[in-house]
Amino acid sequence: MKAIVLGAGIVGTTSAWFLNKQGFDVTVIDRQPAAGMETSFANGGQISVSHAEPWANPGAPKKVLKWLMKEDAPLLFRLRADARQWRWGMQFLRECTPERTRHNIIQMVNLGTFSRSTLQELRAETGIEYNCLTKGILHFYTNQQEFDDALEPAEIMREFGCDRKVIDANEAVRLEPALATVKDKIAGATYTEADESGDAHVFTQNLSKLAADRGVQFRYNTTILGLDVEGGQISGVRVRGQDGQVQVLKADKYLLCMGSYSPMLVKDLGVDLLIYPAKGYSATLKIDDASKAPSVSLTDDEYKLVFSRLGDKLRIAGTAELNGYSTNLNDVRCKAITRRVMELFPGMADPEQAVYWTGLRPATPSNVPYIGLSKVPNLYLNTGHGTLGWTHSCGSARSIAAIMSGQQPELDFAFTGISSKMGEPLATA
Ligand SMILES: Cc1cc2nc3c(=O)[nH]c(=O)nc-3n(C[C@H](O)[C@H](O)[C@H](O)COP(=O)(O)OP(=O)(O)OC[C@H]3O[C@@H](n4cnc5c(N)ncnc54)[C@H](O)[C@@H]3O)c2cc1C
Repeated sequence: MKAIVLGAGIVGTTSAWFLNKQGFDVTVIDRQPAAGMETSFANGGQISVSHAEPWANPGAPKKVLKWLMKEDAPLLFRLRADARQWRWGMQFLRECTPERTRHNIIQMVNLGTFSRSTLQELRAETGIEYNCLTKGILHFYTNQQEFDDALEPAEIMREFGCDRKVIDANEAVRLEPALATVKDKIAGATYTEADESGDAHVFTQNLSKLAADRGVQFRYNTTILGLDVEGGQISGVRVRGQDGQVQVLKADKYLLCMGSYSPMLVKDLGVDLLIYPAKGYSATLKIDDASKAPSVSLTDDEYKLVFSRLGDKLRIAGTAELNGYSTNLNDVRCKAITRRVMELFPGMADPEQAVYWTGLRPATPSNVPYIGLSKVPNLYLNTGHGTLGWTHSCGSARSIAAIMSGQQPELDFAFTGISSKMGEPLATA
């Protein structure tokens, strides 16, 4: 059975790996010269089951309004004359009720837990290197109200098996001594020992090489132009190679993993994906004084930043701007990141040497990705992973490979197109 995977980001590459393991003859297509060159390139590095609270939650509408005109706001809607952005925004508001928030947290915890253990198995099986650290994730709050508001979602996460412990400032500094300089400002924290961190880009590239060794074909520098349909099914994918020639590639099954660019490819087939790019920033700093840099992966709630130690570098990432597909760097937002890093960890690195990057998170209004069958019988979806594509990649990939093989996935999740064990209504993408 032949499968074509559309997109070689972290999601497409892990999907190719698990499809190959299921016995598929797999080809992966990407416009870039290698795997993991777009949103999976320089993300926050966290494998964070504990980061399961969606952006859409009961407190979000007030915060989003407050941040509407603020250039360095952690979550910034720049309203545009763009019907897709407005539809996304309306659905985001509908996802902010306590009931929807709880439902979405449960989806994220289930997918996250399954995904983290799948990653651990893959690591044990292959010995793949990617600057992995298994020191947990410490989420600290410098605002009392934010800390108080975090206790209920943390309780729901614990109820569904994510061991996110509530700790005080003393314990936070005991776990991560680099936080000592801001100890007096910490209102409270949580610690999830089982969470991890590592370089998603290095992982994607190394996994693509391991997959190629097992026979997966990667066609890079190849732009996907469209999908051909015959008799209600996909009959081929039209691509343009590096030589400029247009060709049609054929398979039995097609899997869409094009991140933020997924909706446009399938819109004309009646497959309606509510994915909008949420632009995020990262800064990578070469560490000058390791004793002043954190090695436990951190989340700074007030500034919505995450910190991961990747070998001799510190990656800091966060903020979200809903403003179309531009990946331009905004200097105000870049500087806001390094200013905060220097406040927390003075002397750790030279902020002037920071390497900045932006990426477009493929965000759904609920933060829950589309995984499963689409309306078109041989077109499958694994896309819309938003803030947590690295965390959720291995579990999503293993599940979609099972679904494409006609098996019931091991995961309790609201898959599209098939009934889930939780008895959720079917999503109809
Ligand atoms: C600042 C930031 C911080 C983040 N931090 C974390 C974190 O700490 N933990 C976490 O779990 N997640 C994090 N994420 C989210 C995570 O990075 C994304 O969810 C993930 O990278 C999405 O992967 P993807 O494979 O779906 O998309 P992508 O990596 O964008 O892959 C899609 C691929 O499709 C290809 N493509 C698109 N259109 C075409 C076309 N027409 N023809 C050919 N190829 C095409 C692209 O070249 C690309 O390679 C972060 C994201 C950002 C931006």
